[in-house]
Amino acid sequence: MYVDTHCHLYLPEFDQDRDAVLRRARAAGARWLLLPCIDAGCVPAMLRLCAGAPDLCLPMLGLHPTELPPDPSAQLSWMEQQLRAPGHPYIAIGEVGIDLHWDATRLAEQTAALRTQAGWAARWRLPLIVHSRDALAATCRTLLPFAPGLAGIFHCFSGTADEARRLLRAFPRFALGIGGTLTYRRSTLPDVLRQAVPLDRIVLETDSPYLPPHPLRGQRNEPANVPLVAARLAQVYEVPVSEVYARTNAAVRRLFPHLDLPREDRVR
Ligand SMILES: [Zn+2]
Repeated sequence: MYVDTHCHLYLPEFDQDRDAVLRRARAAGARWLLLPCIDAGCVPAMLRLCAGAPDLCLPMLGLHPTELPPDPSAQLSWMEQQLRAPGHPYIAIGEVGIDLHWDATRLAEQTAALRTQAGWAARWRLPLIVHSRDALAATCRTLLPFAPGLAGIFHCFSGTADEARRLLRAFPRFALGIGGTLTYRRSTLPDVLRQAVPLDRIVLETDSPYLPPHPLRGQRNEPANVPLVAARLAQVYEVPVSEVYARTNAAVRRLFPHLDLPREDRVR
Protein backbone atom coordinates (compact mmCIF):
# COMPACT_ATOMS: atom_id res chain seq x y z
CA MET A 1 0.00 0.00 0.00
CA TYR A 2 1.38 3.42 -0.93
CA VAL A 3 0.67 7.13 -1.01
CA ASP A 4 1.14 9.19 -4.18
CA THR A 5 2.09 12.43 -2.44
CA HIS A 6 1.90 14.54 -5.59
CA CYS A 7 -0.55 14.14 -8.47
CA HIS A 8 -2.61 16.70 -10.40
CA LEU A 9 -5.59 14.49 -11.18
CA TYR A 10 -8.03 17.41 -11.39
CA LEU A 11 -6.37 18.67 -14.62
CA PRO A 12 -8.25 18.39 -17.95
CA GLU A 13 -5.80 15.66 -19.05
CA PHE A 14 -7.91 13.29 -16.92
CA ASP A 15 -11.39 14.53 -17.87
CA GLN A 16 -12.11 11.59 -20.19
CA ASP A 17 -11.29 8.72 -17.85
CA ARG A 18 -10.75 10.02 -14.31
CA ASP A 19 -12.77 7.22 -12.68
CA ALA A 20 -10.70 4.58 -14.47
CA VAL A 21 -7.51 6.31 -13.32
CA LEU A 22 -8.72 6.17 -9.71
CA ARG A 23 -9.73 2.52 -10.12
CA ARG A 24 -6.30 1.61 -11.49
CA ALA A 25 -4.64 3.49 -8.62
CA ARG A 26 -6.58 1.52 -6.01
CA ALA A 27 -5.89 -1.73 -7.83
CA ALA A 28 -2.15 -0.93 -7.88
CA GLY A 29 -2.17 -0.38 -4.09
CA ALA A 30 -2.71 3.36 -3.67
CA ARG A 31 -4.15 4.25 -0.26
CA TRP A 32 -4.11 8.04 -0.65
CA LEU A 33 -3.60 10.47 -3.52
CA LEU A 34 -2.49 13.95 -2.42
CA LEU A 35 -3.42 16.72 -4.85
CA PRO A 36 -1.19 19.80 -5.05
CA CYS A 37 -2.99 22.98 -6.06
CA ILE A 38 -1.45 25.27 -8.70
CA ASP A 39 -3.73 28.32 -8.47
CA ALA A 40 -7.17 29.44 -7.31
CA GLY A 41 -8.64 28.50 -10.69
CA CYS A 42 -8.00 24.79 -10.18
CA VAL A 43 -9.65 24.67 -6.75
CA PRO A 44 -13.27 23.95 -7.82
CA ALA A 45 -12.24 20.94 -9.96
CA MET A 46 -9.87 19.71 -7.24
CA LEU A 47 -12.52 19.94 -4.51
CA ARG A 48 -15.11 18.25 -6.72
CA LEU A 49 -12.73 15.33 -7.26
CA CYS A 50 -11.96 15.07 -3.53
CA ALA A 51 -15.65 15.23 -2.59
CA GLY A 52 -16.36 12.38 -5.01
CA ALA A 53 -13.58 10.17 -3.63
CA PRO A 54 -13.06 11.31 -0.03
CA ASP A 55 -11.46 8.01 0.97
CA LEU A 56 -8.74 8.43 -1.67
CA CYS A 57 -8.12 12.05 -2.78
CA LEU A 58 -7.06 14.91 -0.50
CA PRO A 59 -6.56 18.55 -1.55
CA MET A 60 -3.79 21.07 -0.86
CA LEU A 61 -3.90 24.82 -1.32
CA GLY A 62 -1.23 27.04 -2.84
CA LEU A 63 -0.06 29.22 -5.71
CA HIS A 64 2.56 27.60 -7.97
CA PRO A 65 5.50 29.86 -8.93
CA THR A 66 4.94 29.45 -12.68
CA GLU A 67 1.23 30.37 -12.24
CA LEU A 68 1.96 33.67 -10.51
CA PRO A 69 -0.31 36.37 -12.02
CA PRO A 70 1.07 39.91 -12.55
CA ASP A 71 -0.39 40.81 -9.16
CA PRO A 72 -0.88 37.71 -6.99
CA SER A 73 -2.31 39.55 -3.99
CA ALA A 74 -5.99 38.83 -4.77
CA GLN A 75 -5.38 35.09 -5.17
CA LEU A 76 -3.19 34.93 -2.09
CA SER A 77 -5.71 36.70 0.10
CA TRP A 78 -8.51 34.48 -1.22
CA MET A 79 -6.43 31.41 -0.32
CA GLU A 80 -5.64 32.76 3.11
CA GLN A 81 -9.35 33.28 3.67
CA GLN A 82 -9.98 29.60 2.81
CA LEU A 83 -7.40 28.55 5.40
CA ARG A 84 -9.03 30.69 8.08
CA ALA A 85 -12.34 28.86 7.64
CA PRO A 86 -12.76 26.27 10.40
CA GLY A 87 -12.96 22.71 9.09
CA HIS A 88 -11.44 23.49 5.67
CA PRO A 89 -10.36 20.38 3.73
CA TYR A 90 -6.74 21.30 2.91
CA ILE A 91 -4.06 18.97 4.25
CA ALA A 92 -0.99 20.96 3.14
CA ILE A 93 0.20 24.19 1.54
CA GLY A 94 1.39 23.49 -1.98
CA GLU A 95 2.71 23.47 -4.37
CA VAL A 96 4.73 26.60 -3.81
CA GLY A 97 8.30 27.63 -4.48
CA ILE A 98 10.64 29.28 -6.93
CA ASP A 99 11.06 28.34 -10.59
CA LEU A 100 13.69 30.19 -12.60
CA HIS A 101 13.67 27.69 -15.45
CA TRP A 102 10.85 29.26 -17.45
CA ASP A 103 11.12 32.83 -16.25
CA ALA A 104 14.13 34.14 -14.35
CA THR A 105 12.89 37.73 -14.27
CA ARG A 106 10.43 37.40 -11.40
CA LEU A 107 12.63 36.11 -8.60
CA ALA A 108 11.55 38.88 -6.23
CA GLU A 109 7.81 38.25 -6.73
CA GLN A 110 8.21 34.48 -6.53
CA THR A 111 10.22 34.84 -3.34
CA ALA A 112 7.60 37.08 -1.76
CA ALA A 113 4.77 34.66 -2.63
CA LEU A 114 6.75 31.74 -1.24
CA ARG A 115 7.46 33.61 2.00
CA THR A 116 3.76 34.44 2.45
CA GLN A 117 2.70 30.83 1.89
CA ALA A 118 5.46 29.36 4.08
CA GLY A 119 4.08 31.67 6.75
CA TRP A 120 0.65 30.01 6.39
CA ALA A 121 2.23 26.57 6.75
CA ALA A 122 4.00 27.65 9.93
CA ARG A 123 0.96 29.42 11.33
CA TRP A 124 -1.55 26.64 10.69
CA ARG A 125 0.96 23.80 11.19
CA LEU A 126 0.48 22.34 7.73
CA PRO A 127 3.21 20.64 5.70
CA LEU A 128 4.70 22.73 2.88
CA ILE A 129 5.07 21.13 -0.56
CA VAL A 130 7.95 22.85 -2.31
CA HIS A 131 8.63 23.14 -6.04
CA SER A 132 12.12 24.39 -6.86
CA ARG A 133 13.57 24.48 -10.35
CA ASP A 134 16.97 26.04 -11.06
CA ALA A 135 16.44 27.89 -7.80
CA LEU A 136 17.51 25.69 -4.89
CA ALA A 137 19.68 28.35 -3.24
CA ALA A 138 16.99 31.03 -3.39
CA THR A 139 14.34 28.59 -2.18
CA CYS A 140 16.44 27.52 0.81
CA ARG A 141 17.34 31.09 1.70
CA THR A 142 13.64 31.99 1.76
CA LEU A 143 12.53 28.95 3.78
CA LEU A 144 15.41 28.77 6.25
CA PRO A 145 13.88 31.19 8.79
CA PHE A 146 10.84 28.87 8.96
CA ALA A 147 12.87 25.64 9.12
CA PRO A 148 12.66 24.74 12.82
CA GLY A 149 8.86 24.50 12.92
CA LEU A 150 8.21 23.58 9.32
CA ALA A 151 7.60 20.11 7.88
CA GLY A 152 7.15 19.29 4.23
CA ILE A 153 8.34 17.79 0.99
CA PHE A 154 10.88 18.97 -1.55
CA HIS A 155 8.92 17.70 -4.51
CA CYS A 156 10.72 16.21 -7.55
CA PHE A 157 14.17 16.56 -6.02
CA SER A 158 16.88 16.69 -8.69
CA GLY A 159 20.00 18.11 -7.06
CA THR A 160 23.45 16.80 -6.24
CA ALA A 161 24.46 14.64 -3.29
CA ASP A 162 25.92 17.67 -1.59
CA GLU A 163 22.70 19.65 -2.06
CA ALA A 164 20.65 16.73 -0.75
CA ARG A 165 22.82 16.48 2.37
CA ARG A 166 22.60 20.18 3.10
CA LEU A 167 18.86 20.24 2.47
CA LEU A 168 18.13 17.33 4.81
CA ARG A 169 20.33 18.84 7.52
CA ALA A 170 18.86 22.36 7.23
CA PHE A 171 15.26 21.09 7.07
CA PRO A 172 15.09 18.19 9.53
CA ARG A 173 11.34 17.70 9.12
CA PHE A 174 11.35 17.56 5.32
CA ALA A 175 11.39 14.57 2.99
CA LEU A 176 12.38 14.43 -0.68
CA GLY A 177 9.63 13.56 -3.16
CA ILE A 178 10.91 10.96 -5.63
CA GLY A 179 9.11 10.00 -8.84
CA GLY A 180 9.59 8.99 -12.46
CA THR A 181 12.86 10.84 -13.03
CA LEU A 182 14.58 8.24 -10.82
CA THR A 183 13.96 5.64 -13.53
CA TYR A 184 15.40 7.57 -16.48
CA ARG A 185 18.45 5.98 -18.05
CA ARG A 186 20.74 8.93 -17.64
CA SER A 187 19.45 10.00 -14.23
CA THR A 188 22.10 10.83 -11.61
CA LEU A 189 19.46 10.48 -8.92
CA PRO A 190 20.16 6.81 -8.04
CA ASP A 191 23.77 7.65 -7.10
CA VAL A 192 22.74 10.83 -5.30
CA LEU A 193 20.17 8.98 -3.20
CA ARG A 194 22.52 6.10 -2.38
CA GLN A 195 25.24 8.51 -1.28
CA ALA A 196 23.30 11.16 0.56
CA VAL A 197 19.68 10.29 1.34
CA PRO A 198 18.43 7.74 3.88
CA LEU A 199 15.39 5.87 2.59
CA ASP A 200 13.48 7.19 5.62
CA ARG A 201 13.66 10.71 4.15
CA ILE A 202 11.91 9.78 0.88
CA VAL A 203 8.23 9.89 -0.09
CA LEU A 204 6.78 8.55 -3.34
CA GLU A 205 5.12 10.77 -5.94
CA THR A 206 4.19 10.80 -9.62
CA ASP A 207 3.53 14.46 -10.49
CA SER A 208 0.79 13.04 -12.78
CA PRO A 209 0.13 13.77 -15.61
CA TYR A 210 3.81 14.72 -15.94
CA LEU A 211 7.11 12.81 -15.68
CA PRO A 212 6.00 9.22 -16.37
CA PRO A 213 8.56 6.61 -15.30
CA HIS A 214 10.51 4.41 -17.69
CA PRO A 215 9.28 2.57 -19.83
CA LEU A 216 6.19 4.80 -20.11
CA ARG A 217 7.95 8.02 -21.15
CA GLY A 218 5.90 10.06 -23.57
CA GLN A 219 2.63 8.81 -22.08
CA ARG A 220 0.39 10.51 -19.55
CA ASN A 221 1.52 9.62 -16.03
CA GLU A 222 -0.92 8.36 -13.37
CA PRO A 223 -0.76 7.21 -9.74
CA ALA A 224 -0.95 3.51 -10.71
CA ASN A 225 2.64 3.93 -11.96
CA VAL A 226 4.11 4.45 -8.48
CA PRO A 227 5.16 0.77 -8.24
CA LEU A 228 7.65 1.35 -11.10
CA VAL A 229 9.36 4.01 -8.98
CA ALA A 230 9.17 1.87 -5.84
CA ALA A 231 10.78 -1.03 -7.70
CA ARG A 232 13.67 1.19 -8.82
CA LEU A 233 14.10 2.50 -5.25
CA ALA A 234 14.27 -1.10 -4.03
CA GLN A 235 17.16 -1.70 -6.46
CA VAL A 236 18.91 1.52 -5.47
CA TYR A 237 18.78 0.76 -1.73
CA GLU A 238 19.08 -3.01 -2.18
CA VAL A 239 16.01 -3.74 -0.06
CA PRO A 240 12.76 -5.61 -0.79
CA VAL A 241 10.08 -3.42 -2.32
CA SER A 242 7.92 -4.07 0.79
CA GLU A 243 10.54 -2.18 2.79
CA VAL A 244 10.38 0.73 0.34
CA TYR A 245 6.64 0.98 0.96
CA ALA A 246 6.99 0.55 4.74
CA ARG A 247 9.61 3.27 5.09
CA THR A 248 8.14 5.79 2.66
CA ASN A 249 4.75 5.29 4.33
CA ALA A 250 6.37 5.94 7.70
CA ALA A 251 7.72 9.22 6.29
CA VAL A 252 4.22 10.12 5.06
CA ARG A 253 2.83 9.33 8.51
CA ARG A 254 5.34 11.69 10.14
CA LEU A 255 4.27 14.49 7.76
CA PHE A 256 0.53 13.75 7.88
CA PRO A 257 -0.12 12.14 11.29
CA HIS A 258 -3.89 12.37 10.79
CA LEU A 259 -3.91 10.26 7.62
CA ASP A 260 -5.37 6.83 8.09
CA LEU A 261 -2.49 4.69 6.87
CA PRO A 262 -2.28 1.14 8.21
CA ARG A 263 1.06 0.17 9.70
CA GLU A 264 0.80 -3.14 7.94
CA ASP A 265 2.53 -2.17 4.75
CA ARG A 266 1.97 -5.11 2.50
CA VAL A 267 1.43 -4.44 -1.18
CA ARG A 268 -1.61 -6.05 -2.66
ZN1 LIG B 1 3.31 19.34 -9.36
